[in-house]
Amino acid sequence: MGTRKPHGLRLPLCPYCEGRFLYGDVRRHIRDKTGVCPNCGKRFIIRAKGRIVLLWCIAGVLLCLLNLLFWSLEQVNVLFIAGLTAVLLCCLFPLHPFVVRYRRLQDPLPPGRRRGADGKKGGKTG
Ligand SMILES: [Zn+2]
Repeated sequence: MGTRKPHGLRLPLCPYCEGRFLYGDVRRHIRDKTGVCPNCGKRFIIRAKGRIVLLWCIAGVLLCLLNLLFWSLEQVNVLFIAGLTAVLLCCLFPLHPFVVRYRRLQDPLPPGRRRGADGKKGGKTG
């Protein structure tokens, strides 16, 4: 029924069970490479660094444009510009968990996985 959008600022979901994560949990594991879903117990890859860098790049360009816009005005206060820039930059840190995405681990096994041979042989007899 719903059309899911993969982009946008929102907290990541579990790629297996689509379980939700708390803001604090996402933030705490933002530097980890993998994580485990507390709901289904499966391991996933955490994609954070590249997206955070992208977030800062976009914000940097926007801030430069904003600064140029303010500098073009005549009645402008340098402290106001500096303060506004600092506030906007501070607003970026709480946004970090919202750009994190969780992806499934690639299964190293081939698609046609065979059942493990669970024979009890191996113990010496006699
Ligand atoms: Zn899950």
